Amino acid sequence: MPQAGTKIVIVGGSFGGVNAAYALRRKLGRSAEITVIAKDQEFLFTPSLPWVIMGWRDPARIQVPLAEPLARRGIRFVHAAVEELDAAKGTVRTANTRFPYDHLVISAGAELDYAAVPGLGPAGGFTRSTFTVSEAVGARDALARALAAERGRIVIGAAPGVSCIADAGDTAYYFSADPFLPPRNKVAHKKGKWAHYLKLAFEKYYLARIRHDWPSVHFGW
Ligand SMILES: Cc1cc2nc3c(=O)[nH]c(=O)nc-3n(C[C@H](O)[C@H](O)[C@H](O)COP(=O)(O)OP(=O)(O)OC[C@H]3O[C@@H](n4cnc5c(N)ncnc54)[C@H](O)[C@@H]3O)c2cc1C
Repeated sequence: MPQAGTKIVIVGGSFGGVNAAYALRRKLGRSAEITVIAKDQEFLFTPSLPWVIMGWRDPARIQVPLAEPLARRGIRFVHAAVEELDAAKGTVRTANTRFPYDHLVISAGAELDYAAVPGLGPAGGFTRSTFTVSEAVGARDALARALAAERGRIVIGAAPGVSCIADAGDTAYYFSADPFLPPRNKVAHKKGKWAHYLKLAFEKYYLARIRHDWPSVHFGW
């Protein structure tokens, strides 16, 4: 058990960061000072971004502002981008403030590299994407324009190295783009609404989990 006042700083307010903060608070009680620093003010339930494209979800409905639920657990939330880590001094720095830590958790996610595939990506490329809210909203509007024009083809795919299980209402799809192992591109689909209902339940459970620190469910894999 750490000494009272041990400072834990967590960079990232998404799946990794918020779960780490809740788990550490449960494990350590109030003995530790836990601070979550994230450049996004909200937790975003990414698995529902494809529903934003379909117009089935308002982006606000799949986001949870983090300050209040974290504060209820005595976890400080700082909305800022971390610009520098100094492991020797044990500090992280945002534009205005330096935060000292005894223990640091880094859960800052992935940085996308659209430039790795010429033509890929919504900025400067020819494809839409669904990694962020603004990308999903851009894809939703582009889809609406394409459907209104009633012409052209819509191609749905995955970039190399990506695999994705997608729920399209009455059909579940699996895409995999393996850069090395043949067959390199795999697409499978299964008819039925089961994936849709599973996904609905998962969304509701997970958003409640972030709002109220519900216990995690482990399925054993
Ligand atoms: C459309 C879509 C659907 C998905 N569906 C599924 C699914 O069904 N099942 C599944 O298991 N996974 C799914 N994923 C993958 C899942 O979203 C990621 O694995 C997950 O989000 C990774 O969580 P993370 O906490 O590591 O980082 P991220 O979710 O990437 O979050 C990064 C966090 O770090 C913060 N951050 C980044 N840089 C800084 C900085 N410099 N300073 C401060 N804060 C910073 C951000 O604000 C954010 O809070 C999906 C992803 C997408 C895009």
